[in-house]
Amino acid sequence: MFKQIELNYNFNDLEPHIDELTMNTHYSKHHAAYTNNLNGALEKLPQFKDASIEDILKKLSDISDETLRTAVRNNGGGYYNHNLYFETLKPGGSKKPMGDLASRIEKDFGDYDSLKEKLTSAAVGRFGSGWAWLSANKSGDLQVTSSPNQDNPIMDNKGWIPILGIDVWEHAYYLKYKNLRGDYISAFFEVLNWDEVAANYAKVKSA
Ligand code: MN
Repeated sequence: MFKQIELNYNFNDLEPHIDELTMNTHYSKHHAAYTNNLNGALEKLPQFKDASIEDILKKLSDISDETLRTAVRNNGGGYYNHNLYFETLKPGGSKKPMGDLASRIEKDFGDYDSLKEKLTSAAVGRFGSGWAWLSANKSGDLQVTSSPNQDNPIMDNKGWIPILGIDVWEHAYYLKYKNLRGDYISAFFEVLNWDEVAANYAKVKSA
């Protein structure tokens, strides 16, 4: 049984950047539904009984039944992606990456602002619903990509693990920002906890 991560902040703590109703609906309805639907689908897949969510997402092609495979892809992705998203938010944010992650960002992207621009354009440019990602691999390489729906880089099975995800489904921003996805993305960076992203980076490297 997979469980949603517990939030260590209140739904209204990210105001005015992300509003209370959006946070409440996103966590209590959307993320809860992905989690329940994932658990429901896994009841029919005993081979994944003790598997981690990462392993399940890597082994989607092992699920022969197409309906079940789609259910695990969409809801397993939704479960994993939202845990990452909610985990890396923090009231007031933490403005810039530090340490090892900061050095690697400078090496790969030039500076923090260039990375932010790259992430923003991946997020704004994703047509329809999906995510923008900063991912890492065991060697400590970084890459910026985007995916449709609830897909993520783990599903590609090429060793990339997301360390930061920007949800660009309309449910993540429409109540407050309407069609202005770019404004939501600017606001997202105001409440992004780079310390958590750096911790995720360290975990991927030491895995
Ligand atoms: Mn979402």
